[in-house]
Amino acid sequence: IGRHPTKQDGPVGVPGVDHIIVVASGKGGVGKSTVSSNLAVALAKQGRKVGLLDADIYGPSQPRMMGVNKRPASPDGKTIIPLQAHGVTVMSIGLMVEEDKAIVWRGPMLMGALQQMLGQVEWGKLDVLILDLPPGTGDVQLTLCQKTKLDGAVVVSTPQDVALLDARRALDMFDTLNTPVIGLVENMSAFHCPNCGHESHIFGHGGVKDEAAKIGVPFLGALPIDLDTRLAGDSGTPVAAGDGPAAQAYAELAAKLIA
Ligand code: ADP
Repeated sequence: IGRHPTKQDGPVGVPGVDHIIVVASGKGGVGKSTVSSNLAVALAKQGRKVGLLDADIYGPSQPRMMGVNKRPASPDGKTIIPLQAHGVTVMSIGLMVEEDKAIVWRGPMLMGALQQMLGQVEWGKLDVLILDLPPGTGDVQLTLCQKTKLDGAVVVSTPQDVALLDARRALDMFDTLNTPVIGLVENMSAFHCPNCGHESHIFGHGGVKDEAAKIGVPFLGALPIDLDTRLAGDSGTPVAAGDGPAAQAYAELAAKLIA
């Protein structure tokens, strides 16, 4: 007679949070954090209650991208009060350490910090919590997928071959861990010259869409290389907070994430 599964056996959710979506990439620098913050802001603009957890423990960029820098309060020394920015509830390990200090932790400490940010942060009632994962297929991703009840993963890649190669590894990891893949996003897809309008495919063209078709996961959309997106991220107000073409593109992407 098999043992009946108990609640502790399976992955658990976060109390009060309806959907948890991870944003992943095979390698760094492809725009995973940019996509995470912009999707969070776009969803908030669509009237959702949204949280953004920066789980990119080694290189947390959400404090910069969301424009938050206060250390979160912990009145009782246990629960942590997250910050609010652009309509989104934000928490990042980067808020607990100085910006230019390296985070030199061993695996168990990392996982402890992450579990703490999931469990001890007062997220309140959220429609969706977006998790900005570290790049690649390491410990954090593995443990998170096993321990946390996830709705699914959005995988970000550029059309470049090396990025796609790594994205395939990330997809394979989610497959192995039985984490559903919500879809692929092609970031830095094309560059439209602001002077002459010419479109150049700096990192290649269409690779992510082809890959999605090949492995049978949805292709969520392509985002161009865009100066406004980069400037907005650096300034702490994601481009999705505005009303330009990039904000529109993010609104369309966000609408595909949850029913
Ligand atoms: P990752 O999280 O994958 O390491 P980031 O989101 O930090 O990547 O992005 C890396 C850099 O590229 C950042 O400076 C960001 O502003 C920039 N960037 C991301 N997406 C775009 C884009 N579509 N157009 C222009 N710059 C972008």
